[in-house]
Amino acid sequence: MRPIVPFRLGQLELFFLSDGEIWLDGGSTFGTIPKVLWSKLTEPDPQNRIRLGLNPLLIRHPERWILVETGIDRKPGEKFRSIYKLSADNPVLGQLAELGVRPEDIGLILHTHLHFDHAGLNTRLEEGRLVPTFPNAHHIVQKQELWEATHLHERSQASYRAENLEGISFETVEGEIEPLPGIRLVPVPGHTLGMQAVEIYSEGQQFAYTADLVPTMMQAPLPYIMAFDLYPMTTLETRKRLYERWVQGQYLLGFTHEPGHPLGRLVHSEKGYQAEPLYR
Ligand SMILES: [Zn+2]
Repeated sequence: MRPIVPFRLGQLELFFLSDGEIWLDGGSTFGTIPKVLWSKLTEPDPQNRIRLGLNPLLIRHPERWILVETGIDRKPGEKFRSIYKLSADNPVLGQLAELGVRPEDIGLILHTHLHFDHAGLNTRLEEGRLVPTFPNAHHIVQKQELWEATHLHERSQASYRAENLEGISFETVEGEIEPLPGIRLVPVPGHTLGMQAVEIYSEGQQFAYTADLVPTMMQAPLPYIMAFDLYPMTTLETRKRLYERWVQGQYLLGFTHEPGHPLGRLVHSEKGYQAEPLYR
């Protein structure tokens, strides 16, 4: 498991946590990109799965502790965990404890979207009963995303699990909003229609948590769009709009599924857009 990555953004202290790894099918993860190309970037296991990270972000905001995404659902049991090569426990809870943050200290949770690998630790099992993992947290999600998570169809039903929503009351928002000073929620439709990125700014520095618009740095080139995306052409349009903003604003980027160090930047050259890691 990756250790905690602390970093500063102006006045704000941020911590990239790790909820361990998920192994996903390499072909699905790279969409229409042929394996002869993507296998140069990452090495698949014998089942053709590639290693990805799970990277919730913790923010020490003057008003309260904020978590961007909770972690992955490990409740469905061993067979489910073996499909994705998941360990039994959520390491993110141990990392919070390492920082002296108790689950009840989390005051606000910002959801990029409600897929099981991002919002799965909203609830946990206590003596066979589902309970909220962060009992005092206020949850914010886009209205469209909550609608998608509760109106499933054949294409989306494997990604959402009702047990991760049970007992959680969500505040739903629409469009770009600032729930707290320095924190901006930005709709980034494509992977789902209701997904949002989280932009954070302080003292002239800008950061964006990419959500699944750009899950890892190796997927940053415009055509590297996952087969999981419900609306890939919308992903492409959203990327063009946000990439321009993130390059021009010199945003520091944090990648949701980056398996290694999650911080990087986007650069634009004659080769198109690419991501560059901040540390090698
Ligand atoms: Zn994801």
